[in-house]
Amino acid sequence: MADHDPECIFCKIVAGELPSLRVDEDEDTVSFLDVNPATPGHTVIVPRRHTADLLSISAADLAACNVAAQRVAERAIDRLGAVGVNLLNNCGSGAWQTVFHFHLHVIPRYADDPLRLPWIPAAGDRDEIAATHATLSGNPG
Ligand code: 5GP
Ligand code: ZN
Repeated sequence: MADHDPECIFCKIVAGELPSLRVDEDEDTVSFLDVNPATPGHTVIVPRRHTADLLSISAADLAACNVAAQRVAERAIDRLGAVGVNLLNNCGSGAWQTVFHFHLHVIPRYADDPLRLPWIPAAGDRDEIAATHATLSGNPG
């Protein structure tokens, strides 16, 4: 895949062909406010080079996006009064990804915001966890 995909909305934003409210940029990344913010200051961090998702992004661009996310998180806490941030990547349409140019969401959190965990924490089945561990690690235990 070329560095720029002419059909990609985030490539157009990176190239300045579509408007965005940029909050940070460097040689490898651009960060701009999400048009559908989960909370005030919700920012999308993208690599300048087009790549679809977490599985295809280079290690260097992934690192650059995370460092940019750290800068944006610090600023949200310092300047917006956020009490913390959630960092989120959706990888695959089955995992809520809708724009197929890798991005990290930086979601500032506020003491009284309405966001809640998308799962209900509960103890897992120990045998199932062990079986999953064996499959994922390649180590039968
Ligand atoms: P995803 O669902 O792929 O993880 O996140 C895509 C995000 O991009 C969504 O939160 C959506 O609101 C945001 N988004 C989609 N199109 C645009 C756009 O044209 N401009 C901006 N600033 N954000 C966009
Ligand atoms: Zn793109």
